[in-house]
Order: sequence, then C-alpha cells, then structure tokens
Amino acid sequence: MTIGISPGVATGPVARLGLPPQLPAETPEPGQDDADRATAALEDTALELERRASYANDDAAEVLTASAMMARDPALAASVRDLVGQGVPAAWAVDRAIGTYREMLASAGPYLAERVTDLDDIRDRAVAHLLGLPMPGLPTPGHPYVLVAVELAPADTALLDPAVVLAVVTERGGPTSHTAILAKSLGIPAVSGFTESLVDGQVVLVDGAKGRVVVDPSAAELAAARGRAARVATTGPGRTADGHPVALLANIGGPDPVPDAEGVGLFRTEFLFLDRSQAPTVEEQRAVYRSVLEPLAGRRIIVRTLDAGADKPVPYATFGQEANPALGVRGLRTSWRHPELLHDQLAALALAASDTGVEPWVMAPMVATAAEAADFAATARSHGLARVGVMIEIPAAALRAAAILSEVDFVSLGTNDLSQYTFAADREESALADLLDPWQPALLDLVALVAEAARAAGKPAGVCGEAAGDPLLAPVFAGLGISSLSMARTVIPEVRASLAEHTLDDCREIAAAVLAADTPADARRAASACVEVG
Ligand code: PEP
Ligand code: MG
Repeated sequence: MTIGISPGVATGPVARLGLPPQLPAETPEPGQDDADRATAALEDTALELERRASYANDDAAEVLTASAMMARDPALAASVRDLVGQGVPAAWAVDRAIGTYREMLASAGPYLAERVTDLDDIRDRAVAHLLGLPMPGLPTPGHPYVLVAVELAPADTALLDPAVVLAVVTERGGPTSHTAILAKSLGIPAVSGFTESLVDGQVVLVDGAKGRVVVDPSAAELAAARGRAARVATTGPGRTADGHPVALLANIGGPDPVPDAEGVGLFRTEFLFLDRSQAPTVEEQRAVYRSVLEPLAGRRIIVRTLDAGADKPVPYATFGQEANPALGVRGLRTSWRHPELLHDQLAALALAASDTGVEPWVMAPMVATAAEAADFAATARSHGLARVGVMIEIPAAALRAAAILSEVDFVSLGTNDLSQYTFAADREESALADLLDPWQPALLDLVALVAEAARAAGKPAGVCGEAAGDPLLAPVFAGLGISSLSMARTVIPEVRASLAEHTLDDCREIAAAVLAADTPADARRAASACVEVG
C-alpha cells in the first residue's frame, strides 16, 4: 500500500535513481593496468564524495567527508592491489575488498553497522566507474523531476535539492525513515510503498498528504491538484470546516523563526546541552531562552526541559554505561541524580520570561507516574512558572492520564517515544518501521484514552511527535479531541488544509472508523475512504 511520508502535491516527469551496478556473471581475465585502474576508481569516488560534501549542509558534509576518507583508505587500496595480483580483475577486486570491510562493519555493533550503507555507496560508484556503467545515485536530466527509487541512501537524501526534485516516490521506507524526515524538512512531497514500474519522462502527480501517485494524470486530476495546492496556500489558525479550533504549532530546536505557526508546541532544549562537557550556565541559558521567547510574544510557546539520554546522549547528565539507555535514567529521570540541571534550567527560563514578558508553558519529558508529574509541577511552580505540563510518551502515563492531568495544566503526546515504548520497538531501528507506524491501532487507542481524560479534566492535550505532521491523521486527532498539533513548520500548510476540509462531526466519524480498524493499513484506508478525493 502506498503511504504519504511527506505532504505536498507536485506533478512532473519521472527520473529514476541510478541503480547499483551488477558485476557480469562471467569474470574476465585482469588487464595489465587493472591495479592502477582500481585505485584510480577509488580516488575518483573519493573526489566525487568530497565535491558533494562541498555543497551539502554540515551534517551531510560530515558523512560524505568520512565516506571519502574510507574510499581513500590505504589499507583498502592495498587489499585491492593484492587481489588484482592474485588474478582478480579490477571491478571484482574492488567489490571483494569492500565486501570484506562491509562484513566487519556489519558485525561491529549498531553504530558502525550504519556505515555499511556508506561503504555500499563507495563500492557502487567505483564499480560503475570501472565497468563504464551510469553512476548510481541522483539523476541529472537537466530539468526538475520526480525522483523514483526503490529506497534512498543517506548520501542521496543529503543532496536532495527542492528546486530540482519536485517529489520523491519510493518502494521502501516508512514514515519515520531518513527519507521521510529529510523530505519533510525540505518541504518535498514524498510517497512510499509504490511498487508499479515507471519509466523516465513519464508524468506523475504525487500527493504526499494522501499517499497517492497518479500516472499520466488527466486534466481534471491536474486541476483538482491545483485546487488543493491553492487550499494549502491559505494561512491562518487551524480550524475544521465548521470553525472548531485545533492550534497548529511548530517544533523547534533553537531560535528558529516560525512565522506561519500559531506558536511553538515543542521547543527541544537539548541542543544547548549536546556536544559539550558540562551544562550551560543559567546566564547562558537565559540568553538563548530570551532569543526564543521574544519573537513569540502573543503566541504559545511550550518549552520542554532537558530530555537527555538514549537517542540524545548528554554524557555529563546521564548515568555512565547503561545496558538499555532508552529504558534508563533519561528524560525527567535525569533530575533525580542531577537536580541542579533542572533547577538551573527552570531558573533560566523564569528569568528569560521576566526579561521578555513572554510567559512560556513548560513541560517535562518521559514522565511515567502522576507522582513524577506532581513533583515536576511543584518544582516548576516554585520557580514562578505558572503553566506546567508533561509529555505523555510512556504507556503507563497514557493509561493513568486522568491522574496525571489532576497534577498539571496540560499534556502533550510524544508519539515517537510512545510508539517505541508501546511496541518495544527501538525508534531508530528501520527494520521495525511497521511497528512504529503512527497508524498502529494500539498507539491510536492510547491517544484516544489521553484525549478523553483531557476532555473530562477540561485541560488541553496536544500531539507533538512526528504523527502530528501527518495531514491524513489531523482530522483523526481533531475527532478524538486533541486540541493542538505541533510539527515541522514546513508541513503546517498541508495539515491546515486537511483540517479545513472536514467539520468536527466528520472528524469524529473518521476517528471512529479509524479506531475500529485492526491494522495500520485498514486504519489508513478507513480515513482515506472518508476523505474526499481531490
Ligand atoms: C516524541 O517522543 O514524540 C517527542 C516529540 O520527543 P522526541 O522526539 O524529542 O523524543
Ligand atoms: Mg520523546
């Protein structure tokens, strides 16, 4: 089944990702200069990776530069030469030598195993070079195109240019995949799970919100897509068709401008604490919080206290080597061992609030019990912070949401971690993408439970995980009673348009149909069936 992994609508000609080169079945005799040709191919690959690094963003440039170093590793060149000396032709020697490294990395633990994709990229480029085949990777047809691929490697996604790549269609890669996250941050519509074969130049219409790919769209379909694009272009607060408000907020990781959001639903403060050997001082934090709060005067801003641990390592805040960091002393639990970290952060926030006159809401991550919520609320209030909430991202907290809501002013569902802990599925593990799908009925049951507890308590419940940016889920959340959705700012227009297409009664109907489904695919189908095609 095709699913939308990054919203937006685009139409354009297909250009397929270059495929990894296959070695011919017959192995020829090596030529005289095969050793030199093989090392030259590795050097050319290194140069190409460096060229790409020179115009990629910082994170991508780091990955590409590291790959170039691997391609240029003298030990690799030596083993290629050895193999050629033993009668193995150039392309086969490169393939075999890199294969040996690949096996070593694949068995050396999860961090190094991730580098296997980078090695595969080096192998494919060098082998294509030696066999005179087209380079694998992003095509360069000379005009904007819809990129079609089985799957995208990080080295490809790092180079996606929204001015050239109109949309992305892949066969594999779920809603939490690398491709999804990057496409969303660049505002490129993307659909995955598409298995039909397409040829270069064929025109397709890609609807990332609805998860549809229309091959050779009719004039009527193109007009409908233009109408939809016009609706997406509208601005203003989030509303259903009959005016029921659902605040559309942005997730930020620093003083990022969010002109088109009604505020910030999740300010991840970790960036202040990562990559350093000790915590920032109160004054340092105060200055940063001031710069975040100031432009948000008159709008909501929810600041999350430090969420150290697991996928956000902060060695000085977390507790040595834990066997299971995701289940360890992380999130709010960090403050049990380091109460000063939380006090300093809340003090800095209170100072920034009085400096700017902007009153932030504050919430704690990874809260498991009502007692923890009560403790956090008391601490935050002792610093003069009036609006206090917690994230619901542990199933225990979702199940006892009513008790938690009696201690705090609001809750926000962190569906990324809530999926991870509900399904016992590491959120970073792409092999578990199906379990981490936000349309999983068990996850949506927990969201429904929390929304109902919030309604009964008369307090707001928002969603701030990746699920909040799925336009097809927006009416479901509204129907369940969720009062705000916080997401990457690039996807707000699509979510706004999706909400505006339904009345609150429609949303309730869609939510009921979705909750009655037994699988994520059925849930999506139930929602799509209720959503007008257009
Ligand atoms: C979440 O877990 O859904 C969330 C929003 O927090 P983070 O992704 O920062 O853990
Ligand atoms: Mg989380």
